[in-house]
This record gives sequence, structure tokens and C-alpha cells, in this order.
Amino acid sequence: MKLFEPIEIEGMRIKNRIVMPAVGTNFWSIDGAVTDKLLDFYEERAKNGVGYVVVGVAKIEPQFFGGLAVHDDSYIPGLKKLAEIFHRYDVKCAVQLWHPGRYEISLMDSEPVSASGIPPPIFTKRKPKALSIEEIHKIQDEFVEAALRAKKAGFDAVELICSAGYLISQFFSPATNKRKDEYGGSLENRARFATEIIEKIKENVNVPVGCRISGEEFVEGGNTLEDMKKIAKLLEEAGAAYFNVTAGWHESRKPLITMFVPRAAFVYLAEGIKSVVEVPVIASNRINTPEIAEKILQEGKADMVSMMRALLADPELPKKAMEGRNDEIRVCIACNQGCMDYAFQGRPITCLVNPVVGREAEFRDLKAERNKKVVVVGGGPAGCKAAEMLAEKGHEVILFEKDGRLGGQLLLASKAPYAAEFGTIPEYFERVLPKKGVEIRLNSKVSVEEILSLDPDVVVLALGASPIIPEIPGVEKALTAFDVLAGKKTGDRVVVIGGGGIGCSTAAKLAVEGKNVTIVEMLKRIGSDIGISTRWNVLLFLSEKGVRMLTETKAVEIKDGGVVVEVNGERKTLGCDTAVISVGTKPNDGLYEELKGKIKEIYLIGDCKSPAKALEAIKDAAELALKV
Ligand code: SF4
Repeated sequence: MKLFEPIEIEGMRIKNRIVMPAVGTNFWSIDGAVTDKLLDFYEERAKNGVGYVVVGVAKIEPQFFGGLAVHDDSYIPGLKKLAEIFHRYDVKCAVQLWHPGRYEISLMDSEPVSASGIPPPIFTKRKPKALSIEEIHKIQDEFVEAALRAKKAGFDAVELICSAGYLISQFFSPATNKRKDEYGGSLENRARFATEIIEKIKENVNVPVGCRISGEEFVEGGNTLEDMKKIAKLLEEAGAAYFNVTAGWHESRKPLITMFVPRAAFVYLAEGIKSVVEVPVIASNRINTPEIAEKILQEGKADMVSMMRALLADPELPKKAMEGRNDEIRVCIACNQGCMDYAFQGRPITCLVNPVVGREAEFRDLKAERNKKVVVVGGGPAGCKAAEMLAEKGHEVILFEKDGRLGGQLLLASKAPYAAEFGTIPEYFERVLPKKGVEIRLNSKVSVEEILSLDPDVVVLALGASPIIPEIPGVEKALTAFDVLAGKKTGDRVVVIGGGGIGCSTAAKLAVEGKNVTIVEMLKRIGSDIGISTRWNVLLFLSEKGVRMLTETKAVEIKDGGVVVEVNGERKTLGCDTAVISVGTKPNDGLYEELKGKIKEIYLIGDCKSPAKALEAIKDAAELALKV
């Protein structure tokens, strides 16, 4: 496979083409120091075959909120430990040098700065100070000093984050750079801030300087791919060692990394940059399987592939791919629930499909002291994950599922037109659980007697949740969102009562089928339980499909031909052929009371303990595996 061919970047030999780009793990301390958690996280990835890892973002000034610290010599020993881990496993590594510019959220009382005084539409929305020439030179020197620290710590390279809307891209972009001096105006002038940083680093620190760039900014008045090709040329002439090409800025109102984006959708940007530069180009965004990665390389669209979330979801991806065990890879589903949504909140990240992220040491080499017989009831996300991890620990596991397939609510979630990736999780469990020795009994609504007849040491109840049926007149005429997602037919005009994530998915499915759909939500916001990075994508999709979204509107009665709603104390009828209920779920905890006292160890996990998202259900299952 081309994926496993070595590549050389400015004399730095990288053993394969798999790149783990910088990720805001928040596993560092509040001031940005390297922690054991961060070391464990990267060791897990390093030892499983990734070729090149970029750590960061790494702040070049102390006051920036978030990021690894590289602004002071006192952080060098911690960074050194990190570099040593990479080198122990023959992984090349870089520090990504970061100045947020107008996106700055400050730990201190400092003023954000930028190329010009234009406030950002997101984050603090504060008007930044336009940098003076003297201040520009000072920041450039800070980049150089930070690069020197990275080198002293043993890193093989540095990378400038020239993307995502941070300071360097604020200089690149005509949307944010209105300067009249040598750092503004022409494309050469807008690139100057970055080209001078590269030149200064090359002059003062002998280290390759990579550039993470947005192949197109996707902001109004911003740089297009054609502009970015010219900028990349200038950066290359200044000494850039490679380009890692992503898409857009944080403020772009175009889906860039969610499930709405097809796999490998932005590879064309890397291809465009590659057509004008000689140095290696890395493709990025939604490259989540080795097959896709290999295809990109085989087609010559890029020289390497960036697989950040793919390596969160499964740190063993390179090793498994190398050994031809692709069917055992846990695929990133682009949900962003554990990674981006947590990162944007300043929380340590996790992963929906891999709850071990950030807890690598805790879960390392889990082996049971005594092997037990475990019955897991329920093959949804919690049940499957528990079965997997308990089997890995050495227990004998029998998994009962009442339906003909594993997956539970994941199968329903995958029916939203934008959420097919959810379906890859049950497929993974269907392939992997038998290999791990789990006995799966499908179409088995297991009874108490049957469980007891197996004489288990442990019973894990992962029975999921059922729709809540509100007590409103006429509710018996309605379908539930679960019914509709499972394929039940509706009339042409549908009112969905409840605008949370499941209601939105249901509405989206129906709208795509050509139905006239209205969502009725009591709260002020539709989709309030959907993560920050995905919610606006969902709302955009629904509005593009013509779904009417009514907030602060309460359904009070379902009649033949309509739903009566109350808005500001006034009642009116929304005409429809079918009403669909989506107001939440309640736990299915049926077997617990009957089994209590008859089994020594009995656990409720996931939705049947407390309804939540798949992320929490899978985490709950992992935590159970620590205990049993
Ligand atoms: Fe991928 Fe979701 Fe895991 Fe993030 S949380 S790495 S998007 S599966």
C-alpha cells in the first residue's frame, strides 16, 4: 500500500503517509503544560504506527486560552517528554505554532489583535487592535523563539497554523486584512506576515516549517482556491516544507467537518495546492478509513493524509490496516460529539466510539482477575460496547438482542438523511464481537427464567429507552419518531411534536421524502440537544428542505386532520395528516426488579439507567468494564 511507503520532508524521513494533525485535546494543564494524560494519549497513537504527529495548537503568548504552551523555556522539559515518546516509536513530530489573533479568548485582561480592526463574528466578537509594524515584528520573533524551543525539546519540525481563521490567515484574507502598508493590499503583501515568519525561522532555527492552510476560506470576500494556490507558492518560495490543506475557517457557514460532509470531500483543495507546489501536500477532512486514504494517494491527489478524528476513534488504525485487519477498525462517524464539541467548550475531549480517549492509562491492558460468565441484555450501543470490553477482559459473554440486528437506537439515528455514518457502529460490532468471543443471540427477547438458567455471575441490562407519550388528547392517533425512523409511513402533511435531535432527524427524513413538515417545539430553540458544531448544519438542512420550525409552541391536542397548538396563550390548529411524537425517552428497566436478589452482580447501563446520547451510553459501558 502506498499509505505505508516512507516519505522524506527536508531530510526528515517519515516511515509512512499517515499524519495525525494537531488537535485541541485540552489534556494539557490550564497554562498549557504537558501532562501525563497527554503523554498517554499520544503514546497510544505513536505505538500503533502513525507516521507523523503534529501537536498543538501551541500558544506563542501566555494569555491565550487553550493550547499547549511553547511561549516560555520553562515548558521545554515537558515538551521533551512528548518528543521522546514519539521517537521511541519512530514517529516524526512537530509543534504547531499558534496565534489566534482576533479569535483570542484571553486568560488575562489582554486586547485581541489582528491585521485590521474587524471583529470576528464568533467567539468573543471583540474588536481587535490592528497591529503596528513594530508589533508585527515582535509577534514574528515570538514565532521564531517558539520554534527554537520546539527544536530544543527535540521536535523534528514546526508547523504554522495558517488556517481556521487564526492570525496568519487573518493577514492572508482580504476579508480581514484592510491594511494599506506592506502587510496588506496585494496578495504578496497579505502573505508577507507568514513568509517573513518562515524565513526568520529558517534563518535562526534549522528546522522544517510546515504550513496548515485552508485551501479555500469559505468566508465572504475571503481567499478562493486560486488565491490560496498563489499564497502557497509564496510560502513555498519562503521555505515552507509541506502543506497540510484543510478547508474553511471556524466562522465559515459551510459544513466542513460534520456528517453533512461526504467522506474526503475537500481533497480537491489539496489536489489544487499540489498542482502548483513541489513540496509534499497533505490532504485533510473526513478521511476516515485506510481505503479512502489509499485511494487519495494512489490517484496522486496528495502525498500524505491527515487522519485526526480517525485516530481518535481508533489509535490502532495504522497497525490494523498494515495487518490487513481493516474490518476491525472503529470508524470515526464525524459526529463531533466527543471531540470538537468538547474542544470548543474547553473540555478535555473524548470520542463517541472510543471512550478510552484521554483515559488511556486507566484502560491499559485490562484483564479480569477472575473470568466470569456475563449475560448482557440489549444490543444497542451500551450493550455492544460492554460486551466487547468485557470479552476483551477475558470474561465469557452472551449478548441477547430482541431484534434481528445489533444497534438499537443507532440504527434509527442512521435513518436521518445526514446521519448514515451512525450505521457503521453496529456494523463494526457485528463484525468484531464474534471475533472477540462474544456469543450473540439475535431475535431473543430473553426472559428472567432463561437468564437464570444460564447461571451467570454477572447480568448487564442495556435495555435502552422507549418514547415518552405525552398525556394530550388524541395522542393515540399519533406515531412516534421511533416508528417513523424505523420506516412506518406517514401522510403527506406531518407535524412533528418535539424539536430535539430525534425530532429534527425525523423531520429531515420526512422532508427528503417530499413531505410537508412542521416541527413544533416548546422551548426557544430547535435542536437544543445537538452539539455546537452540528446544530447549525441541521437547522440549515431543515430550512433548505422547507421544514417549518415553530418554537415556544405547545401541542395541546391531536385531532383528525390537525394538531392544536398553543402560542402565547392562543390556540390554533396546524393542519396535518400525521402527528409524530418526539418529546423524549424513558428508561426500559423492566428486568431489573425481577432479577434483583437472584443474581450476585447486576448492572443497568446506558439509556435504561438514564436516557442520554450514545456518547454517554458507550462511556457508561466502558466504565462498567473497569468494574467487572
Ligand atoms: Fe469521530 Fe465522533 Fe469520535 Fe469525534 S467523537 S472522533 S467525530 S466518532
